[in-house]
Amino acid sequence: MSYVIGLDVGGTTIKGGVFAGTSQSMIDIHMKTYSNENTLEEILASISEAVQYLMDEASHLEIGNLVAIGIGIPGFVKSSEGFVLYASNLRLHNVNLKQWVEEHFGVLCVVQGDARVGALAEREFGAAKGFSSLLFIVIGTGVGSGMILDGKIYEGAHSVAGEIGHTILEPGGEICACGRQGCLETMVSGPMLIRAYQRRIGKKVDVTAKTLAELAACGETNAKAVYTDAARSLAIAIANYCTILDPAIVVIGGGVSLAGSVLFEPLRAFFSVYASPLARQSIEIVPAVLGDRSGVIGASLLVRDILLDERSM
Ligand SMILES: [Zn+2]
Repeated sequence: MSYVIGLDVGGTTIKGGVFAGTSQSMIDIHMKTYSNENTLEEILASISEAVQYLMDEASHLEIGNLVAIGIGIPGFVKSSEGFVLYASNLRLHNVNLKQWVEEHFGVLCVVQGDARVGALAEREFGAAKGFSSLLFIVIGTGVGSGMILDGKIYEGAHSVAGEIGHTILEPGGEICACGRQGCLETMVSGPMLIRAYQRRIGKKVDVTAKTLAELAACGETNAKAVYTDAARSLAIAIANYCTILDPAIVVIGGGVSLAGSVLFEPLRAFFSVYASPLARQSIEIVPAVLGDRSGVIGASLLVRDILLDERSM
């Protein structure tokens, strides 16, 4: 038998898993191994350490040979060549991660952006199971997204497609991390929801996105209004996306999506206002179900076909 490794390389942590079946993770790790101050060499050393650890554990379990490694990275990735074009959290620019991993471990490596990887996982085992096209939006500190069209991850001609978080909804609005103004991210990300709440109540208070959601769920007027505003912006962005690309389903994950009905109820209501008549009848907006496991699962799916091919031989 053989196995693959899935790695979810985040801004400060690496999560990983070993997959020997079509759906089962044999070993899970969660390593807090670097900070965003680290150099490229240190980050690569952490990736190497994580792979080595998983290989050692797999060898104790005698589950065969490692045949491939899938890696999800928070940034722009040109997957066909394995290039991380830009990952601001990791300070990676034009790094051929695929080549580096393949040289180090002697097995095939596939690298992809983390939101795209999350989309794969949700389609295979999560909220979009059975759908051939979907939009997956992750709302946390920032807003990422991944698109699967006709069963395949869509990267675009320059590998930067799907950045719904940086579609502009309010020209001249808040300055975004991308340098422009009024992007969706400035209206719905966790830190921006907290800022909007503080603006409404006119003072700085110690809240997190989680406590804000709890306040809204208890009916606190300002917190509810913050989610209603965010839901309106998100609904407009999703409606526009649906008008152009007509996905079968829209899945929303990330910390902000855990707010539940205080976000999803107004979101669906606004979507039915802004979406085209056909889209509003046929496209569902649902919460992700895999949580922070989607990165590791999706990364393994990047290379799982190699296992399936082996079995069919
Ligand atoms: Zn932006």
